[in-house]
Amino acid sequence: MKFSWKNLLLWSLPIIVISFFLWQGIFAPIANENNTNLTNSRMTYGRFLEYIEMGWVKKVDIYDNGHTAVIEAIGPEIGNRMQKIRVELPASAPELITKLKKNHIDLDAHPTKNNTALWSLLGNLFFPLLLITSLTLLFRRSNNATGGPGQAMSFGKSKALFQIEAKTGIIFDDVAGIDEAKEEFEEIVTFLKKPEYFTAVGAKIPKGVLLVGPPGTGKTLLAKAIAGEANVPFFSISGSEFVEMFVGVGASRVRDLFKKAKENAPCIIFIDEIDAVGRQRGTGIGGGNDEREQTLNQLLTEMDGFEGNTGIIVVAATNRADILDSALLRPGRFDRQVNVDIPDFKGRLDILNVHAKNKKIDKNVSLSIIARRTPGFSGADLANLLNEAAILTARERKNQITLKEIDKAIDRIIAGMEGTALIDSKSKRLIAYHEIGHAIVGTLLKDHENVQKVTLIPRGQARGLTWFTPSEDQSLISRSQIKARIMGALGGRAAEEIVFGESEITTGASNDLQQVTSMARQMVTRFGMSTIGPMSLENEDSNPFLGRSMGNNNEYSDEIAIKIDSQIKLIVDECHKKTRDIIKNNRVIIDKLVDLLIEKETIDGNEFTTIIKQYTKVPQKI
Ligand code: ADP
Ligand code: ZN
Repeated sequence: MKFSWKNLLLWSLPIIVISFFLWQGIFAPIANENNTNLTNSRMTYGRFLEYIEMGWVKKVDIYDNGHTAVIEAIGPEIGNRMQKIRVELPASAPELITKLKKNHIDLDAHPTKNNTALWSLLGNLFFPLLLITSLTLLFRRSNNATGGPGQAMSFGKSKALFQIEAKTGIIFDDVAGIDEAKEEFEEIVTFLKKPEYFTAVGAKIPKGVLLVGPPGTGKTLLAKAIAGEANVPFFSISGSEFVEMFVGVGASRVRDLFKKAKENAPCIIFIDEIDAVGRQRGTGIGGGNDEREQTLNQLLTEMDGFEGNTGIIVVAATNRADILDSALLRPGRFDRQVNVDIPDFKGRLDILNVHAKNKKIDKNVSLSIIARRTPGFSGADLANLLNEAAILTARERKNQITLKEIDKAIDRIIAGMEGTALIDSKSKRLIAYHEIGHAIVGTLLKDHENVQKVTLIPRGQARGLTWFTPSEDQSLISRSQIKARIMGALGGRAAEEIVFGESEITTGASNDLQQVTSMARQMVTRFGMSTIGPMSLENEDSNPFLGRSMGNNNEYSDEIAIKIDSQIKLIVDECHKKTRDIIKNNRVIIDKLVDLLIEKETIDGNEFTTIIKQYTKVPQKI
């Protein structure tokens, strides 16, 4: 909970109310005892005079400097019993005394005792005092609490937003598929456990290690494993938590973090998303950010401020080392970089093995088949995959995970949640032609991956899907493979054009077209696969957040820019024409496959290829 005036009000209202009742309950009776002898019946002054006239009043006691009287009276109106009745007297009531005297009524005046004033003074003080105390308590509590309410009141003081784990419980065996990074860290664990080995020979231990890799590849896990193996506490914070609205908060948080860490050395400090604070200073993009620079400076100061051998190791993670401030990477700071990449086949298999340990998996399921089907999956994706499969299994009240659930989970992770198929309609037919278009072009082309299945069951954003079996080695792709992919991606739109006519084509191809353009562009500007020649004209993602014209540091002339555009168009046009030819030449098979797809909703890859093979040669040289 953050501090706000609304919260303050919410908290203090009940306190105000409670203290008011307390005051009434404790002090009011005591105060009353001193002036009116506790009587509940009251009577107006006028009625009191009438009572005197009627002779019903027997005794009058005057209190409060003549402001109040308590009378003892008896009369028919009050049940003919002697009663004590309280009467408020007007400021000046000169006739009263004469009247009382005339009627021989016993009169007694009681002097005001001093402690009445004292009590009422105390009573008046008590309420504000209580309020002040409770508010003080409230704030003190918020400031001490970690992550508790009211933090913004302590500008610049620690919010203690970092997490501390005394024991992470993670060991190296929990981390798989990133063996090189692991080896690097085994050495660090040895240092934390036996620093004397290193100090004896005068070796300096790295203070900071930078883990570079895409999200979900196990960077946090690895850092925790060091702490777990070395049996030291694990301090962690995310870079984005440093950067606050108030200038100076981030810097003081860094200071607090290192202070706490020093008290607990040896230990591991883990800073996730360090790029949030550690971005190159003074680039001017998006305006300067004083707060971020102050925080970064503080971080640099702290890293320089402790001796290399105190036993604190700072591990930071980012997915982009290239945008970090060079000062961070200087010796004595994050001078070691360890890359953590998306795992390859063997890595995926190892990771699956780690996460399969605590799950009941049918013995017919081969983890290597799953690993083969999941190129591009990170460790987190794989962990998620097995978990999804386990959930699906439980939902179906089975007691072992089978290949069926795993397949479903893979599809779900890649393409989103499954929807229900459309009812038969023109658009269902169009989607069927679109998908069969992708699938047949992919099947007939020699350099294209094989079809794994075609389906009309929507998933995520997609209305229908054609899945291809990913080829394992994705690192080297030939020109004809890229062209085959472009044609495969154009297959859907080409089928729409030929079967339904130019005016009926739909927006359903927009995603395909994005891929087509991006692949063609990269052929020209990155892979030197056009007549412009073997030149690299653009970086992978020069600046994904800025338009091409703005943050463009590609050094080519306007003349080349025009050439690039015309080369891209040439590639796409050629592929488009060839794709249309494939569709036209195979119209009979396509019609049959569409009927089958509409009937079955999903056609498996093997069945698909078998059917095509009955009519034509697969693959074809196109
Ligand atoms: P990162 O910090 O790189 O974004 P995490 O370490 O937070 O990724 O990974 C999230 C989860 O994914 C981990 O808790 C773990 O369950 C799983 N995971 C990721 N990488 C691996 C790996 N290499 N080995 C085993 N599990 C992994
Ligand atoms: Zn498509």
